[in-house]
Amino acid sequence: MKKWLLIPILSVLVLLTGCQKTASKPQIMTTFEPMYEFTKAVVGDKVDVAMIVPANQEVHDYEPSAKQVAQMTDASAIVYNSNDLEKWVPSVKTYATKIEAASAVDQIAGDPHTWISPKQAIKEVKYIQEELSKKFPEYKTDFAKNAEAYLIKLEALDAQFDTLKNAKQKTFITQHEAFSYLARDYDLKEIAVTGIDPDIEPSASALANLKKEMEKAGLKSVYVEENANSKIADTLAKSAGADTLLINTVESLSDAQRKAGDDYISLMQENLKSLQKTIK
Ligand SMILES: [Zn+2]
Repeated sequence: MKKWLLIPILSVLVLLTGCQKTASKPQIMTTFEPMYEFTKAVVGDKVDVAMIVPANQEVHDYEPSAKQVAQMTDASAIVYNSNDLEKWVPSVKTYATKIEAASAVDQIAGDPHTWISPKQAIKEVKYIQEELSKKFPEYKTDFAKNAEAYLIKLEALDAQFDTLKNAKQKTFITQHEAFSYLARDYDLKEIAVTGIDPDIEPSASALANLKKEMEKAGLKSVYVEENANSKIADTLAKSAGADTLLINTVESLSDAQRKAGDDYISLMQENLKSLQKTIK
């Protein structure tokens, strides 16, 4: 190729790639609802944020599609909760910065549900802000301002949950052990019907023990999770003459919840109202 031709072609190429960079904002991939909301609250409209686990799906046994893996490979950053929860994140080959939100949390072995305690959600948001500010130093001030506004809301939520500490009756029965951070941070005692794994049925003697515990604490309710298989908890509630109340692990929003404008904070407020029915 003649030299005089090469120069204009090269400058067109430079222009094209230059355009591309300004036209598309860098992408942050987040794994599931709370990670998406926390990240979005920090970055605002400065960076595009996408979420991997779709509505109505559980994060626990989710496997990303090939397309999603490709998106993660191309992303600037991946924000996820923990290596114990989104087990597939560490194996994704990418130059993206992987931000493990729960690394800011004093973790309880066997329970990955850190975000269900507003106190831990606050730590995760601060950590996400710090790490993303290193990745996008040009937006550091914006991220700090956005995070501050969101943290005020989370701190108000935390203060509401703090009132549970004054209760006389602090035991609550859940379908499966997903609320140990909430119990630890707000001075409560969680008794789980099925332990960590919701799919393992408890033995007859375990159910009998639970029934005794419920009678001892004068409890008439078992908390069951929305969208989860609650057969075991229902059986227990029936045999103990108790009713069931809803509690949400805030892992995803249903289409109806998203339409209604629900989010992490509003669902946690509903959880608080539900807990206040037995913790008082
Ligand atoms: Zn869960």
